[in-house]
Amino acid sequence: MSTIHKISSIKTVNPYTNELVKEFVPMTNEELDKIIDKADEAYRSWKKTSFGERAKIIHKVASLMRERKEELGKLATLEMGKLLSESIYEVELSADIFDYYADKAAEFLADKSLEVKHGEAFISYEPIGTILSVQPWNFPYYQVTRSAAPNLMAGNTMVLKHASNVPQCAKIMEDIFLEAGLPKGVYNNIFIPGREVEKLVENPKIKAVSLTGSEPAGASIAAAAGAKVKKSTLELGGSDPFIVLEDANIDLAVKTTVEGRMWNAGQVCVSPKRVIVPEKIKDEFLTKVKAFFTTLKVGDPMDSSTNVAPLSTESAAEGVVAQINKAAQQGAHILLGGRRMNRKGAFVEPTLITDITPEMDAYYEEIFGPVFMLYSYKNIDEAIAIANATTFGLGGTVFGNNTQEAVKVARQIETGMVYINHVTGIAPELPFGGTKNSGYGREQSPLGIYEFVNEKLIRVTTPEKAY
Ligand code: NAP
Repeated sequence: MSTIHKISSIKTVNPYTNELVKEFVPMTNEELDKIIDKADEAYRSWKKTSFGERAKIIHKVASLMRERKEELGKLATLEMGKLLSESIYEVELSADIFDYYADKAAEFLADKSLEVKHGEAFISYEPIGTILSVQPWNFPYYQVTRSAAPNLMAGNTMVLKHASNVPQCAKIMEDIFLEAGLPKGVYNNIFIPGREVEKLVENPKIKAVSLTGSEPAGASIAAAAGAKVKKSTLELGGSDPFIVLEDANIDLAVKTTVEGRMWNAGQVCVSPKRVIVPEKIKDEFLTKVKAFFTTLKVGDPMDSSTNVAPLSTESAAEGVVAQINKAAQQGAHILLGGRRMNRKGAFVEPTLITDITPEMDAYYEEIFGPVFMLYSYKNIDEAIAIANATTFGLGGTVFGNNTQEAVKVARQIETGMVYINHVTGIAPELPFGGTKNSGYGREQSPLGIYEFVNEKLIRVTTPEKAY
């Protein structure tokens, strides 16, 4: 084992120690072509299977994941550093999503008849072929699941490009699909660096593209897909606002925001990244947030008493500290933390920042780390203006006792999801996705399965009467 400081290719580096664990050789162009050919060929028979046949396999995937949740959990923690309890929760959530689509796909994709003046008309939902899916490391199983469960149940096949720092999580998912009985070629990993993905979009056997990740990666993939008239969905970054209303329980709001922000060491697209509180309770709120920070234990992600994990990589930790330093140089107040921790591993101190103004980059950027940013407002219109000030539009929260008032505020927030009295959450039956620069398309829920199907009209009529 050796200590490294730069992620340059496909490898497992334990962020708790920064030690290199295992390296993977990137695939050659010939290997990639073969995999795409195999996925296209597998599509010819997979699309003919019944929902019942597919559901049996997908339920088996769910049960294998549950059986192996400790092993899968430890692997995710090893590769990207999140707390083991968070990894195991993620495995269970993923299993629930597989079960959900296995149970519901036949209902969601049943023919839908349309009211017509005469004859018959209906929508037939048909698979479209091989989907290229590009996924990030922050939820190494859940991200794969969100994309794979609806698409496999719909009859599509998949080529999955996982993030370069979680190759073993990628590998174990492919193994589980095969062990569950998924025919060879239906789900396929590819191991290449992100910058080389774009060229695959041109392959005529790739019918559509889905990417979850950063805005630049999404923009490049969507442009490549657009150039070849292929559909894409993008689930990109976010800077979720969390608006605390005047009637909120302050202790509960503090606990919800701090715990929400430290979840996954702050590396969650829907983390409450900007907490916006009424001016009149700001001091009390701040005092309580500071007190809560003293209870946080940063350390070994395998230890159940740890609440804040290392970041995913050394370069991620360096990037977050650079953003904090820039905020400080531009005049923001770093009240707590703000530095690398004096220990090995990709650690950043839990950080509390106030006095962020529209002149500063931090006002608009996503900070993907344990950084709590506090804003205050004089009236609710100002709170909504702050919430909507970024180019992102992923999730958000309104926190208050009067839920009718909270819903009125929620309607004015420009994001794809708003939760009342909870950080933006995740459940198989609820859609997930954003607006503005957070992307387009939805995953999970009934909506997720319609993204990559041909909604084909079949019209039964007579030669005399078309309409
Ligand atoms: P990233 O760099 O965009 O990586 C995500 C995936 O895209 C990885 O598999 C990566 O491969 C690949 N990639 C990188 N550059 C690419 C390119 N030019 N063309 C095609 N693929 C490319 O994202 P990240 O910074 O690691 O992940 C964090 C971001 O994802 C945050 O902004 C977060 O908010 C967002 N995210 C969004 C959601 C959501 O549902 N909206 C969920 C989770 C995360 P390599 O690893 O090989 O570079």
